[in-house]
Amino acid sequence: MNTNNHPGTTDRKKILLLLLPFWTPLIPPMGISCLKGFLQKHGYNVKTIDANIEAGFREINDNYFKKLESAVPGDHRGNLLNIGIDVLQGHMTAHLHRERDNEARYIELVKSLIYKTFYSVAKDSLVRELNAILDTFFLQLETYMLDILEKEQPHVLGLSTFKGILASSLFAFKLAKEKYPLLLTVMGGGIFADQLAMGSPNFDYFIENTPYIDKIIIGEGELLLLKLLQGEVPAHEKVLTSQDMNCGVMDLSTADLPDFSDLQMKYYPNMASYTSRSCPFQCNFCSETINWGTYRKKKAKQVVRELTQLYEQGQCQLFLLSDSLLNPIISELAREFLTSDIALYWDGYLRVDRKVCNPENTFMWRRGGFYRARLGIESGSSKVLEAMNKEITPQQIKTAVSNLAQAGIKTTTYWVIGFPGETEEDFLQTLDLIESLKNDIYEVDCNPFRFHLSGQVKSLQWREKKIARLYPKWAREFLLMETWFIDNANPSREDIYRRVNRFLEHCKKLGIPNPYSLDEICKADERWQKLHKNAVPPLLDLQQGSAYINECKHLKKLQTAVDMFQKEEDDDFDFI
Ligand code: SF4
Repeated sequence: MNTNNHPGTTDRKKILLLLLPFWTPLIPPMGISCLKGFLQKHGYNVKTIDANIEAGFREINDNYFKKLESAVPGDHRGNLLNIGIDVLQGHMTAHLHRERDNEARYIELVKSLIYKTFYSVAKDSLVRELNAILDTFFLQLETYMLDILEKEQPHVLGLSTFKGILASSLFAFKLAKEKYPLLLTVMGGGIFADQLAMGSPNFDYFIENTPYIDKIIIGEGELLLLKLLQGEVPAHEKVLTSQDMNCGVMDLSTADLPDFSDLQMKYYPNMASYTSRSCPFQCNFCSETINWGTYRKKKAKQVVRELTQLYEQGQCQLFLLSDSLLNPIISELAREFLTSDIALYWDGYLRVDRKVCNPENTFMWRRGGFYRARLGIESGSSKVLEAMNKEITPQQIKTAVSNLAQAGIKTTTYWVIGFPGETEEDFLQTLDLIESLKNDIYEVDCNPFRFHLSGQVKSLQWREKKIARLYPKWAREFLLMETWFIDNANPSREDIYRRVNRFLEHCKKLGIPNPYSLDEICKADERWQKLHKNAVPPLLDLQQGSAYINECKHLKKLQTAVDMFQKEEDDDFDFI
């Protein structure tokens, strides 16, 4: 046993923060980089590592999905790389809890994970082949973790955990604790916003069955982790929340820049930053406000200063802003960039609203560097949009998407399929809306509606309906959590997944991409350039080390789309 790392509570100065597989490394990990920036200022020695850039892990991920793809019929695959994460996460977690005497149940469970996602029966031989891939993965992860722990000799190991990363994190914590019993193990991340939301039976079960995790941080991590390191958390407290610890929320006007200095930035196609935390809205299926609490934003001047600084460090002109929503700052930010000396491009989540329905705004945003709008559109049915509390109409969606596209801004649209009460007619309205916008949509992606017992704005109301376990009760020993669905709902779970397949088939026929790989993104960019004269530069042109691009500020306006909402009263949003 190594005994180098057993300082007293307040002497824990060496912190190792990791993001483990599987997470697609499109941007450097924001959570651990923000923590590093913050804690270093307080005198801690923080090392961050993103294991997802390791070629060996990426290869295993690819092999797993290729194998799965080969066994699922084409019309059942859906967006396999998206919904397949449910299978991978469940399978990996079950793999960790597999014993000689529960092998039969383990195989049954893996087949069930595949069936309940793809509605296609898996053979035992497929499960054996997938198991072999996971065996290789956990062996590699063990070597990887032991090497890092030996090299870094941290006092604290912090893992940021999301869907897809859970099993790797559990494995790493357990291994680290066995090898270094005095190491403080701390878990945080988005997984506690939905699947393991506080107040759910899943959360309680998880806490009881993970003795190798010392502390769990819920929500914003900086102030809580600092309190913990400074010895202000009672030893018996395993779960730390801002409310319980009475430490409020971060003042973003004094927040530090994310510190990416340990990361190999050449592996990420986008630089990353953020302008705000939380969201001023409350869509019924979303857990964003529950995770981040009160909505806060930075001043546009501060954002421009920070992005410029990060550009100078990394020479990458394209930023993905990880905010829940850019609407409250977008105009101010674009104006600030227009008067600055630098041209940077920024991509982020946007909500359809009255301002997006004004083409003068979308053009101004484009000139200010707005690169891609990630729009949570969700449905083409006004009835479903209302039930979701989206506060938008299909007509507003059409105007907003077209205005963005005509300005050349990429439009990535997200859709939720099978929201409770979505009828076949509602679903067909979604397909019709997409068809009517096919040339103005850069990309489509969809998710089946997922219900969580806690965490979503409407979880408690849905819990009053008849709900059922997706997997048998005994499966909890393997998965460490349960998945629930609304029973006898319209549409049924199977219908929802059928609609996902129909949705993707429809988009494919219309020629609207759903790119995941770099190669697919390049093809989608080519299509966008052909469709829109003012299209933003392709992703490859903006990557680190490429020539500096400054076309946005000199852009000429092409069209004067009718702004049907411009004349309406200014009764929309009044952001903080
Ligand atoms: S779906 Fe988007 S707009 Fe709605 S609450 Fe969540 S983050 Fe906010």
